[in-house]
Amino acid sequence: MRPLLPALDAAGLLREAGFALLLRYRQPIEVTDLAVAVGIDVASAGGAVNALAQEGWVDLDEPGRIVGAAGLSLATGPHRLSLGDAAFRTWCAYDSLGIAAALIADGRVETNCGQCQAPIRLAFRAGNPERDGPDRLWLAEGGADLRGSFCTPTVLLCGEEHGNAWADSQGGRGRLVGLAEAARLGAADWAGCADATKRLS
Ligand SMILES: [Zn+2]
Ligand SMILES: [Zn+2]
Repeated sequence: MRPLLPALDAAGLLREAGFALLLRYRQPIEVTDLAVAVGIDVASAGGAVNALAQEGWVDLDEPGRIVGAAGLSLATGPHRLSLGDAAFRTWCAYDSLGIAAALIADGRVETNCGQCQAPIRLAFRAGNPERDGPDRLWLAEGGADLRGSFCTPTVLLCGEEHGNAWADSQGGRGRLVGLAEAARLGAADWAGCADATKRLS
């Protein structure tokens, strides 16, 4: 996921509702259930969900159920995000931090330094990261291909040195941010998803 404005359109509402349903039920979501949650007809929802899947905003399984939305995934993604006793995957490292922050959650992010693969674990308390470094987040500039140009290169780095090495390898197309800033930015970017989660509960 990359920074976006609050959803005002059907596609945005579907994406946020998909996120909320995945978070709550922790199992694949039928498009029918998503349509009901958003209050639109199933045919329109189906078309919009397929378009979202093509753009990389949702993941569908073989039968066409939603298994990932707005960065939160039941199965796909290199980063682990635990929220309470629920284990998820995320498409990029920013997703993990932003989702924990927006949900004001207790949780844990587990990933690897993008440069040296050293394990990185970061606990969250009430949406706040337990420390503000030495790890850094690389926030890629992104492009037309959400997953390839934004999510794939958006990783945590174990410290300043590997942060700078990663920035070089990315040709400077992005920026390094601290963990606290990443959480603050993410809380705003996932605010719509967090609101949808509240509306559902
Ligand atoms: Zn992402
Ligand atoms: Zn490293």
